[in-house]
Amino acid sequence: MLGGLRRSFAAKLVALEVGTIILVSVSLAGLLIAGRILQTHDLEQNVARGAVDSFRSDLDNAGAGLTSLSRQLADFGPSAAQFQSPDRSGLTTLLALEAGTRPAGESIIALDADGHPILGRTASAAAAGQTDATPKLSRFDNLTSVRLVQQGQNYPYGYIDRAGSSLILSGVAPVRSQGQTVGYLVDSIDIDKLLRRLTSTSSGLQHSIFYDNVRAATTLSSSLLGQPLPSGLAAVGGDSQFGIYSLTGHTYAGYYGSASQSPHVTLAADVDDRGFAAQLLNDALIVLFATTLLATVLTVVAFYFARRFALRPLAELGKGAARVAGGDYTGRVEVTSADELGHLGKSFNLMSERILKNTQELESQRARLDAAITSLSAVSRALTTTTTGEGALRQAVLDALAEITGIAEVAMYTGVDQPRVTATRGIRAAAARQLLSPAAAKAAMTGADGAVIRLPKPPPDYRGYAALVVPMVYQERPVGALVAFSREQLGHIDLPSINVLANQATVALQNSLLFQRERQTVIRLQELDELKSDFLATIQHELRTPLTAIIGITDLLDMAWQTWSEAQKLDAVGDVQMAAKGLYELVETVLDYSMIESDRLRLDLLPTAVRSATDAAVEDISAAIKRHNVKVDVKVPENLRVQADARRLTQVMKALLDNAVKFSPANSTVQVRGARRNGRVTLEVVDKGIGIEPENQKRIFERFYQVDNTATRRYGGTGMGLALVEKLVTLQKGKVEVKSRPGRGSTFTVSLPAVE
Ligand code: ADP
Repeated sequence: MLGGLRRSFAAKLVALEVGTIILVSVSLAGLLIAGRILQTHDLEQNVARGAVDSFRSDLDNAGAGLTSLSRQLADFGPSAAQFQSPDRSGLTTLLALEAGTRPAGESIIALDADGHPILGRTASAAAAGQTDATPKLSRFDNLTSVRLVQQGQNYPYGYIDRAGSSLILSGVAPVRSQGQTVGYLVDSIDIDKLLRRLTSTSSGLQHSIFYDNVRAATTLSSSLLGQPLPSGLAAVGGDSQFGIYSLTGHTYAGYYGSASQSPHVTLAADVDDRGFAAQLLNDALIVLFATTLLATVLTVVAFYFARRFALRPLAELGKGAARVAGGDYTGRVEVTSADELGHLGKSFNLMSERILKNTQELESQRARLDAAITSLSAVSRALTTTTTGEGALRQAVLDALAEITGIAEVAMYTGVDQPRVTATRGIRAAAARQLLSPAAAKAAMTGADGAVIRLPKPPPDYRGYAALVVPMVYQERPVGALVAFSREQLGHIDLPSINVLANQATVALQNSLLFQRERQTVIRLQELDELKSDFLATIQHELRTPLTAIIGITDLLDMAWQTWSEAQKLDAVGDVQMAAKGLYELVETVLDYSMIESDRLRLDLLPTAVRSATDAAVEDISAAIKRHNVKVDVKVPENLRVQADARRLTQVMKALLDNAVKFSPANSTVQVRGARRNGRVTLEVVDKGIGIEPENQKRIFERFYQVDNTATRRYGGTGMGLALVEKLVTLQKGKVEVKSRPGRGSTFTVSLPAVE
């Protein structure tokens, strides 16, 4: 139990409270009992004092009665004569008659003028109204009271005197005759008898009379007679004294005081303490019972209030604290009182709320950090992965920006003089442009590390939006900006992270750009390499074919020179010539191309008749036309003139016609159309040949490009014809285009500036 008390603050509180109640109750009981004891003593003192006072007044009454009766008798006329008569019979009768009227035990004594007793009579208790026998007269000889009266003193309440061995109260009256005192009459009663008469024995009140501080008469045990005053009271003169003492095994509260009847006498009233002690004990028990009851009630009330106002709130607070210790900050303690515990409860709830808020903030910060790390790692992945392309990289950067800022609407501006919106997320590019104009973006990105811009006239959907502009810096120059659009406060955003993102993104984008360029260059180089290989193979073939033909024919000529007819020889020479011409043209084409490449080809741009140039071209390839067995239908008006180099125009038309014929099926017609439109002359070469796949239509103008090598081998050629055509047409301020459908044929259109 003590262990529990040590561990529980609430139990300590209750123990303290109960302890206090018990202490207060015991103190209260003690005080009440002490007060009661004092009160009892006071009461005892008052009772005893009252007893002494009434005892004194009873004595006074008795003494006054005795004195007055003795005086009446002394003043009775015949009394003096009887005192003076030698015959005592008359006095005897007088005294006997008088004694008969007195209560039992009272004696009437006649004294002579010297104070010696002459006669006496005592009232008898046995037969009222009858005289008793003569008392022992020697007891009354030389009474102090008589002597004092003789000396002229007056005792209206009688005098207490020794008469032999006992005390008497007596009234003394001188009997006079003709101015002479002839004797004295003494009316007396034994004090013992008087005490018994005055004291009611059932009251618990005892009377004693001390003579010269020795108990001379008492209603207490007669064994106390002759004993001195109780200790502590003896030395005190006639004044009243109070004391409590033990007599004959009892405790008494006594009051002692002087008497008017004699300076030798002390009157005492003793009250038996038993009744008071019993009452005191009774009262003490009542007080104890009442205080115990009060303490119990107070304890119960204290328990109730302690439970209601301390234990329960404390338990509630304890539970709350345990919840917080267990990591649950959402609960609230229900302590709503206006006292310190209420304040504590409020503070506790406030503390829990703060902890919860801080924890949530920390968690959200951690989550944002995690998200930022995730996004940064995503960015870093994106930054290191250049194969996904620039667009994907921009999107990855914007994703990261959105994650870091928590803002959904973000955009990337590129360029510094005329910034363009190159990527957006959560917002359309047009809206972004409207929100942040290129001029405003430029102003912001040339400013500090990051600037928040108030948007002056946003569209209705974007009222209250501001833009955070973080410049993307490359080699210490801004090259673009990351922009976040939001209605929320932008001040708290982690600018350093976004700066890192912006700078890394810039480097990555630059790298990506370089990489793309590099890759394109490599692809281009690879293609060129392939083309070069193809070209070498082609040119080998194209060179070897005519050379083999020339060598073969000339060998044949050499061997058959004698046997061949002239016609045969001419025919062979013709073949040699044609092969040599092909070779020549091949070499010419290569040379022309290399001259154009090295920018050394000079053209004479003069008004030229298109028809004659076309005809010349048709003429030049007549052998091929014949060989492929196709028809060429030229519909070019004579008057069409262009600003061109006549020889080069013929070369262009010849290349186009050569291809048209080469890729046309036998017996088909190649058409050449000429027309003038909007100040330009268009020349169309239309064939019904194999056609060109759409994806190859652009590439056929590249040097050495041939759609399909294997097929081309069938058709021959070097892949340089169309490349040269495009260069030549461009040099003559013209344009060449192709429209083709595979299997259906192709149309090559050349347009040149017309001349009137
Ligand atoms: P080549 O000397 O091989 O003809 P060109 O540059 O003139 O080289 O032509 C390139 C390629 O374009 C040809 O190999 C052929 O595949 C395609 N081509 C050109 N003209 C035509 C056409 N009229 N019909 C079909 N394919 C054509």
